[in-house]
Amino acid sequence: MMLTLEHLNAASAADFVALLDGTYEHSPWIAERAAAARPFQSLAHLKHQLARVVREAAPDEQLGLIRAHPELAGKAMVSKSLTAESTNEQSKAGLTDCTHEEFARIQQLNADYNAKFGWPFILAVRGPRGQGLPRAEIIATFARRLAGHPDFERAECLRNIHRIAEVRLNDKFGVVPALGDQVWDWAEALAVHSDPGFKEQGQLTVTYLTEAHRACAAQLRQWMLECGFDEVRIDALSNVVGIYHGTGDKRLLTGSHFDTVRNGGKYDGRLGILVPMACVRELHRQQRRLPFGLEVVGFAEEEGQRFKAAFLGSGALIGRFKPAWLDERDAEGISMREAMLAAGLPATLEAINALQRDPAQYLGFVEVHIEQGPVLNEMDLPLGVVTSINGNVRYLCEVTGMASHAGTTPMDRRRDAAAAVAELILYVEQRAASVPNVVGTVGMLQVPAGSINVIPGRCLFSLDLRATTNAARDALDADVQAELRRICERRGLHWTLTQTESASAAPSDPAWQQRWEAVVAGLGLPVHRMPSGAGHDAMKLHEAMPQAMLFLRGANSGISHNPLESITNDDAQLCVRAFQGLLESL
Ligand SMILES: [Zn+2]
Repeated sequence: MMLTLEHLNAASAADFVALLDGTYEHSPWIAERAAAARPFQSLAHLKHQLARVVREAAPDEQLGLIRAHPELAGKAMVSKSLTAESTNEQSKAGLTDCTHEEFARIQQLNADYNAKFGWPFILAVRGPRGQGLPRAEIIATFARRLAGHPDFERAECLRNIHRIAEVRLNDKFGVVPALGDQVWDWAEALAVHSDPGFKEQGQLTVTYLTEAHRACAAQLRQWMLECGFDEVRIDALSNVVGIYHGTGDKRLLTGSHFDTVRNGGKYDGRLGILVPMACVRELHRQQRRLPFGLEVVGFAEEEGQRFKAAFLGSGALIGRFKPAWLDERDAEGISMREAMLAAGLPATLEAINALQRDPAQYLGFVEVHIEQGPVLNEMDLPLGVVTSINGNVRYLCEVTGMASHAGTTPMDRRRDAAAAVAELILYVEQRAASVPNVVGTVGMLQVPAGSINVIPGRCLFSLDLRATTNAARDALDADVQAELRRICERRGLHWTLTQTESASAAPSDPAWQQRWEAVVAGLGLPVHRMPSGAGHDAMKLHEAMPQAMLFLRGANSGISHNPLESITNDDAQLCVRAFQGLLESL
């Protein structure tokens, strides 16, 4: 018999614990403590409360939970003394069918891991889609995590335990996250297309107007037609536009980008196209019309990888396409205009300028995006509501001193350009850390033509400063520049700063942000508000209409712009449900 929330909410405390038996391996204390949080509003609410109990438990209790788990393909599996749940998971992942070599490799990893950390390696082997991870991936993950820091590894084990519990609860409740599975499967199928040089290595790279990029556009168009969009087209920039008409004239605009960085992840951008597609598919199946139309745009370009121009797709919708971009050339010398013509696009400013939308026809813009950071993952929260997209300012900088002999120049007579920049880097770190939601990074650092025995005469570096408000960004900028001046004057050095980018912060529209908050709360989840450290298409649309974003937790500690970027089908399901909730709330 399948478990129901009504049953759980009404059960005695002892029955409650018994009903959840086996969810967390040999650890009934978790259910015991979570019982007080009843009634549970949703399965997501229950899962979050169970995770909260573990997060708030004492460190030795957390360690006890980790140690209550069997080793992967370990002695307990061989002697068939695993719990029924673990047997099911390890056999679904094919661990019971290991080759001799795989088995030996896993035993060695088990021994090394235990020797380093003092607890067994925990991996949710049913995986992000719940179907079981391939053995090769399990072994690769094991080897990668063996190199991790103990603090991180301990937290990662607990997160995997929560994922194990999530899949076990789905089984107990007979729940299949079908909408999340659909989004997950679309993302997987879209990731088949990758640029040459990367595809062969199993890496995902889709840059503007390559063959893989055009294949992605064609695939999205095809799926949108199958979902039941009324109008689907690929526009003059190769954005894929799907419109699902409503009974009223106004439309809600949504979407995100389908291009990727080099060797990127499968969800960055794409999630924001696939989630609303799933919503339209459901509306179409139910033959339902909303009082407003839904316009979903798969933006062709956001990442600025092939040409020195970014946000091409969303920029064009607000009339920000720069004519000079058509003459930008890629690494092979192909101009954007040539690439467009080769892709069968008109490549005229007239056609591109015609993409500009009239804001009066839209209710606003919303965008769903993977968080691309560790915050939600650390808080055991699937969804986060964005308060503002950080504004930024970027510089390429140079400090000039005097290159001289490292042996003969006394310490008090040096003009060391690199030492000055080192001082500044530490200042940027301290200054940014002293204010919430402000970040500063020196990501590029170079001593041109440096030698081991020469005092650095020049040092080139970059500055990337970001904040949730323009005022906070400008204050950080002013302080960093003042400090650079002080350092250089004290050391007798010359400096230059060249601004390469400046983008205003894009605070979420309060009414739209509040709608996201209401749907997250409606799913039984705590509302977590957070800034977006990364730039997104929404910051472009911000210039023309009210906007607000919803973040989805990324697994693997939220890593992004990396092939390890990952989401679960259950989280994708919640994301679709949140989007549906938003549509219903208008
Ligand atoms: Zn993105």
